[in-house]
Amino acid sequence: MADMTENCKSELSFIWEVSNLLASANDSEQLVCGLKSIFSLYFSINNFRILIRDESTSTLRDFVKSWIVIEKNQRQELVENIFNRLKRLHDNSFLLNNKILKFDSNNLSKVFFETLQESQNCFYFPVFNEKKLIGVIEINFDKVVDNVENSQFLAAMRIAVSQICTAIVNKILNRHLQAKIKFQQVMKSIAKLIENQFELEYILPIIGELIDRFVCEHLIYIFIKDENNKYKLFWPSDCQDTSVLTLLPKMTDSKSYVLSKDGNTGLFAIRNDEKTVGVIAASSNIDKLSKTDIEYLIQLSAQTSVTTQRANSYAQVLKYATLDALTGLNNRRQFELRLKQEVANAKRNNKPLCCIMLDIDYFKKVNDTWGHSAGDCVLKNVAKIVSNGLREYDIASRYGGEEFCILLPDTNIHEAVFVAQRLRTSVEANDINISDDQILGNDTLKVTISVGVSEFQKKYETPEKLHQTADIALYEAKHRGRNCVVVYDESFE
Ligand code: GH3
Ligand code: MG
Ligand code: MG
Repeated sequence: MADMTENCKSELSFIWEVSNLLASANDSEQLVCGLKSIFSLYFSINNFRILIRDESTSTLRDFVKSWIVIEKNQRQELVENIFNRLKRLHDNSFLLNNKILKFDSNNLSKVFFETLQESQNCFYFPVFNEKKLIGVIEINFDKVVDNVENSQFLAAMRIAVSQICTAIVNKILNRHLQAKIKFQQVMKSIAKLIENQFELEYILPIIGELIDRFVCEHLIYIFIKDENNKYKLFWPSDCQDTSVLTLLPKMTDSKSYVLSKDGNTGLFAIRNDEKTVGVIAASSNIDKLSKTDIEYLIQLSAQTSVTTQRANSYAQVLKYATLDALTGLNNRRQFELRLKQEVANAKRNNKPLCCIMLDIDYFKKVNDTWGHSAGDCVLKNVAKIVSNGLREYDIASRYGGEEFCILLPDTNIHEAVFVAQRLRTSVEANDINISDDQILGNDTLKVTISVGVSEFQKKYETPEKLHQTADIALYEAKHRGRNCVVVYDESFE
């Protein structure tokens, strides 16, 4: 310290190093670490931190690890106290050894306040954003700072601190901007979900994951009302959070959101025609929902409402359509119609008829590892292999999720097994391009399928029995270790 104030050169190089660091630090962690080491080099300090006040929750948080609320103990009170004092001053003031001091253009004028014992050897510099106090820089010196009045030392400090404050404000603005960009991306992803999927069972978990990743300090749950107007947990599979469960009855049709008394939990309405059909819940046992979190969640739940309403109406329209929107194969409804027709034809013409059920192995893992759009890509790809591998009059359908069903008219069981094996090996050999997702630069993946095959028997009472027997064989194929073809046998039942 003494060296520094005696030597103009080192003051300059101190400021120079600080400026350099501020220009090159990429994130708040690099910034604070760098400042810590520069300050340690020129002065003897044992701590350096930056605390920023969270506007909506009024808590002081660590600038680097913003999820850390600083310890709720005496020290916190002390800093709060200092913070409140600085608030009344302006950006020329700072606190040192219990005294509020002021940088002055000509001289240093001291303003004494009552003593705060614990803050010995501590500098507190206010961080202002447009005249508003938003945080403090806390610097702990190893020994008593005795030559405060030394104007060169103070001039250096003043320049460094004002530069640091500007950098902090910029980083905070940048954080807000990044959050806004991320928010817009989440909104867009939710809106885009219905481009090729209409089932809520599929859409809502993805929405849950998207929001959960965006609102990282709080856990997210989605509840949907059942026939009896009771909220049922839809995503994820478990909710033990009593504050969410006790808040649920408070969510009425007239409210767009409700908050718990402590502000840690919030419910946000998912609506359909003025009625609340579900809620997105956000909860934490340590942290309040911030004003911005609440604003974001209101908009995210509104977007979820639009998406689910549209999905419902598309699903209505699709009920009358014949093709599956994602794969272009027949949909389940069409499969059920064709099953009846083909069974009738087979009976009338005394011709064989076979059914193949196939299911992608460990498909959930694909979604979990590579994302749902990669999953969709795999579905389209398998559908393509299936339709390319069949004759013109075979009937391929997407039965549900990652299950496909094929009817093979005028085909006996041996021929059907041959077709099934061919499909299985084609899928196994195929590299599926998911490069649109560009995850970790790895752009192809492989999947396998399990296949069940059965042949229509005259003794079957209903056409559905043909499908059921193929499904039982498929189950057996899974049981035998997957990536194989199994022909139905009565002993499986
Ligand atoms: P198994 O080998 O036993 O078949 O395991 P699995 O993981 O394939 O089976 P599981 O039934 O557990 O998972 C099926 C997954 O398929 C769960 C569901 O989220 C996903 N899924 C269903 N429909 C779609 C869809 O249209 N697109 C995508 N990407 N995933 C879907
Ligand atoms: Mg599967
Ligand atoms: Mg399945």
